[in-house]
Amino acid sequence: MSTFKAPRGTYDLIPPDSATYLAVRDAIAAPLKRSGYGYVETPGFENVELFARGVGESTDIVTKEMYTLTTKGGDQLALRPEGTASVLRAALEANLHKAGNLPVKLWYSGSYYRYERPQKGRYRHFSQVGAEAIGAEDPALDAELIILAHDAYRSLGLRNFRILLNSLGDATCRPAYRAALQDFLRGLELDDDTRRRIDINPLRVLDDKREAVQKQLVGAPMLGDHLCEACKEYHEQVRELLTAEGVAFEDDPKLVRGLDYYTRTTFEFVHDGLGSQSAVGGGGRYDGLSEMIGGPALPSVGWALGVDRTVLALEAEGVELDLPSATSVFAVPLGEEARRVLFGAVTGLRRAGVATDFAYGGKGVKAAMKAANRSGARLAVIAGERDLAEGVVQLKDLESGEQTAVPLDGLVEAVSARLG
Ligand code: AMP
Repeated sequence: MSTFKAPRGTYDLIPPDSATYLAVRDAIAAPLKRSGYGYVETPGFENVELFARGVGESTDIVTKEMYTLTTKGGDQLALRPEGTASVLRAALEANLHKAGNLPVKLWYSGSYYRYERPQKGRYRHFSQVGAEAIGAEDPALDAELIILAHDAYRSLGLRNFRILLNSLGDATCRPAYRAALQDFLRGLELDDDTRRRIDINPLRVLDDKREAVQKQLVGAPMLGDHLCEACKEYHEQVRELLTAEGVAFEDDPKLVRGLDYYTRTTFEFVHDGLGSQSAVGGGGRYDGLSEMIGGPALPSVGWALGVDRTVLALEAEGVELDLPSATSVFAVPLGEEARRVLFGAVTGLRRAGVATDFAYGGKGVKAAMKAANRSGARLAVIAGERDLAEGVVQLKDLESGEQTAVPLDGLVEAVSARLG
């Protein structure tokens, strides 16, 4: 062990488990790639103001959880705590929305940082795959994104997740509701912090996890009863589209989510095997965000799914992904001359697209064959002086133990035929 450890709240992805993480990222991205979403990558840090304005000055993320830093040049930066504000900033900066082809559909994958109290499923460094559809107000787009996340989870073999759905209204109906909710909340017995929240962001009080607070919230006005006609109609269409595609959801009138920028559709994917950190992904519509960060009006919708928690969900359900072995062929040279020749054969196999590894480190035959078996390879290519003198190598099936000589100059073909 070295003197150093991974910082608190973080962990390393190492083989063989890291293969599951890659597969989860790929599985979440696959439906997006099939649906017109282009890949976007933004820096790991941004101007702190982008998040303060974009995520919301009153959110836990901005007030408590951001890793901020001042550069030697005096810039105030923050490690990104989430993806949406950055992706929208990048799209606006590149004028993607002006190319005349709205919505701009983008997907991303990367590391995010929040200074949270670490526990199982809650880390200070975590990984998300996200998708954003920028510049269109269309219930089919909200439904598309929910369906794509649903299909991604299903493709991984997950079953025990639920989709919670709500509408947060818009600039027409939310202000009146907000005022009604504030009136109600001011009559409750709440601590100072929560009281402050009533002024800044009363909807988030609904999200309070404490039982003492939840008890008092019985009878609180619900946004669903205050939606304007346009929001009601929009939400109904999202619900109908999901139902038509066989995607089950639960209406959750208290679903608010921790970020300020959501309007209308909000949703969360929860998994019942994860204990308190049960949200595996979430998202919604954020029609006002572009203007909040200095852009034009661009109604948009998106989600982010947590890779770490999705892996935990797979574990909770006992789902083993069918991961192909990283190595198909393992080469074992017997002697110096064979070493030189087989190294060339390994390079040739790799260039032909066959995943191949080699017994490095001058191992004896026994250790080399052990390494071959451990690698998960299906075939071993073994050669000694006598084989080479005959222009052949031994191709050994590591499952059946069957071994045959094949010509060295026909190795790629012989291996390809065996691997199918
Ligand atoms: P949020 O932006 O908070 O809605 O997060 C979207 C998803 O990212 C969540 O549903 C989680 O799966 C994941 N996530 C958020 N914060 C953390 C964290 N601290 N540790 C692990 N995963 C997280």
